[in-house]
Amino acid sequence: MANLRTGVYPGTFDPVTNGHLDIISRCTRVVDRLIVAVAVNVGKAPLFTLEERVAMLEAEAAELKAVKGAIIEVAPFEGLLTEFVGNAGASLILRGLRAVSDFEYEFQMTGMNSQLAPDIETVFLTASGNHQFISSRLVKEICKLGGDITPFVSSGVKMRLTERLGQDGGGGYPQGVG
Ligand code: ADP
Repeated sequence: MANLRTGVYPGTFDPVTNGHLDIISRCTRVVDRLIVAVAVNVGKAPLFTLEERVAMLEAEAAELKAVKGAIIEVAPFEGLLTEFVGNAGASLILRGLRAVSDFEYEFQMTGMNSQLAPDIETVFLTASGNHQFISSRLVKEICKLGGDITPFVSSGVKMRLTERLGQDGGGGYPQGVG
């Protein structure tokens, strides 16, 4: 894989939305091999386990792969992102930017990562207009309140969310963000 430009798209993906998929699809125009790195992220108290989040992404990535013909891998990760990126033989971190609200956190993280690993560049991509404002947190809230989440997630993810949050009032829904 030495000749392939490899990039890492890290996130919590709790769960993967059409916004994430839009970014993943765009990433394949920037890199030859994309590793979607699913963070354990206990701090965000995810609704779905790491295994569930990885499984949902794998299912979605399999569909995208057929369309794009690019290499998309999904891997769980814990610990320092820069180490994960280095170990994966990657030189790029890819992140999505939504509104200005994302900027400060992303700016700080990029600055810190570039101190930790000066050889790794961070590239920001934006989703198309109708995907730009989708957030996992709001999708979970809408689903919990009985709203239609069809425009925001795949049918597979919608099913998982409805199972977890729908009907029964969403018992056990933690105060996660993302
Ligand atoms: P994290 O906990 O790392 O923010 P998320 O799963 O919330 O994980 O997001 C992963 C990445 O995807 C982040 O760079 C985030 O800004 C980006 N992202 C999420 N939703 C969208 C969207 N609708 N459009 C563009 N980028 C997005």
